[in-house]
Amino acid sequence: AGVLVGSMAACSTERDSGSESTEGAGSAEETLVGIAMPTKSLERWNRDGAHLEELLTDAGYETSLQYADNKVDQQATQLENMINQGADILVIAAIDGTALAPTLQQAADAGVTVIAYDRLINDTPNVDYYATFDNYRVGTMQGEFIAEALDLAGGAGPFNLEPFAGSPDDNNAKFFFAGAWDVLSEYVDSGKLVVPSGKAPASNDDWASIGIQAWASETAQSEMENRLNSFYAGGTQVDVVLSPNDSLALGIAQALAGAGYAPGADYPVLTGQDADQANVLNMIAGKQSMSVWKDTRMLGDQVAVMIQQIVDGETVEVNDEKTYDNGEKVVPTFLLDPQVITPDTVDVLVESGFYTADDLGM
Ligand code: BGC
Repeated sequence: AGVLVGSMAACSTERDSGSESTEGAGSAEETLVGIAMPTKSLERWNRDGAHLEELLTDAGYETSLQYADNKVDQQATQLENMINQGADILVIAAIDGTALAPTLQQAADAGVTVIAYDRLINDTPNVDYYATFDNYRVGTMQGEFIAEALDLAGGAGPFNLEPFAGSPDDNNAKFFFAGAWDVLSEYVDSGKLVVPSGKAPASNDDWASIGIQAWASETAQSEMENRLNSFYAGGTQVDVVLSPNDSLALGIAQALAGAGYAPGADYPVLTGQDADQANVLNMIAGKQSMSVWKDTRMLGDQVAVMIQQIVDGETVEVNDEKTYDNGEKVVPTFLLDPQVITPDTVDVLVESGFYTADDLGM
């Protein structure tokens, strides 16, 4: 730790003696990158953090990687410490996308460049770039998968649907829901999809009414148990569950198992996102129908490219300058493509080296 603090001090001296400009901060060795991840409790963030840290240290950067246990204040404190230690660049996967404006003002005052990682940070002009997977597309993929699996376009139905949405404080959750609902709502309107619990938002804007705080599996499980107990008692079957991600899908699958749903023809269509290991195993076991895979290595690679461009004083490459308005500005964004994985295509995860065959019991 002593060595790290020493080099951080050197880093901030370098920066303070230079101009206010974030351009051409110098070399990798002179650059401290603070990486703030939300929580270790979800598999993907562990992968994200480890991959980005490794890429950057291999390229010679000084890094500080912190996880905040999904606690908003803890994340703000971690970021403030990074700023005080002389961080030049902050990469932030925010816990609450609207809570960091004061912290990012401190970052701006210190000349720090800020990259929002995976999740947008709202209500502040002090976020320079955003790198993420196409969040709306993730939702569309889930909606389209459901429509195809049930042959909704062919007029099949009615089917009983239970929709879920992500954490209300995560800017991504709104995009996931909008993408899915833009595909599914026409079938809800036409009566081909029925929501026995009544938990169908009246419009995309009401998505947070069915949001699961902090993306917690346990909360999704108890919510699903409540819906099954209250609305499916007399032998009514749930045919499809829209789950925005894998952590929720895990809890929902538990609730389904508890209510006696077993893999097979009558098992509901259940969506997910992230291709977390436990969920891929569930897919193989017939307890989840799909997951939208976002290869976190690609996101890390792209962010490392952005960082290098910032350090070299080059133009930072983005491919979307219209979608992500954070309330203060449209944040220049690099969007990556997500990919659908089904039980039939899990090999893709092994072929790409994301998992070993052993990881998946294959
Ligand atoms: C990420 C998802 C993740 C969720 C819960 C979202 O912001 O984009 O990949 O499943 O957070 O951590």
